[in-house]
Amino acid sequence: MNKKKKLLEQIRADIVSNGICPDLAKTATSLVMGDGNLDAEIVLIGEAPGKKEDETGLPFVGAAGTFLNSMLESAGLSRVDVYITNIVKYRPPNNRDPLPAEKVAFWPYLLRQLQVIKPKVVVTLGRHSMEYFLPSMKIGEVHGQPQRVQVGDDIIVVVPLYHPAAALYNGSLRTTLIDDFMKLSTIITILKKEKETI
Ligand code: URA
Repeated sequence: MNKKKKLLEQIRADIVSNGICPDLAKTATSLVMGDGNLDAEIVLIGEAPGKKEDETGLPFVGAAGTFLNSMLESAGLSRVDVYITNIVKYRPPNNRDPLPAEKVAFWPYLLRQLQVIKPKVVVTLGRHSMEYFLPSMKIGEVHGQPQRVQVGDDIIVVVPLYHPAAALYNGSLRTTLIDDFMKLSTIITILKKEKETI
């Protein structure tokens, strides 16, 4: 088995054996770890699985996921180019917001996922994943603007974006999110050039 796949399976096994968020685990059907390219340069991080994600075991497969796919496509990307996960990996009952304790409990496992995949860019979708990478920032002020942050032992570029579900039925947020998505491929190109000149 591919080394990265094996390491990610170990993370899944550790979440189960360490009994992370037992209440959520009881009501959820799936532990939704993530999906996509294990060598991706971009990792997108949402909030928590919803109903469809819980049923299928895959992130962003409902309405927000369809919108996300179309934005990736307009940015010249597709789901096979990126890796998608969530901060909380079990569905909260009735799609309520994840609790602070749930986010804290899953944070070390998200960090381990990033250490395995080693993306150039982390895209946070919505405030729940943003607040852990950019704790002092406000999404209304920094959306679409790349930020360099220390995550574990690595410096990574974090691009905070609005959550697709929040933007789905809100005209102006929708336009803002689509515009921010379009900047992603430019950001990747700039980072690649920077690396070549170092
Ligand atoms: N919203 C999220 O934040 N994550 C999903 O996987 C689906 C909807």
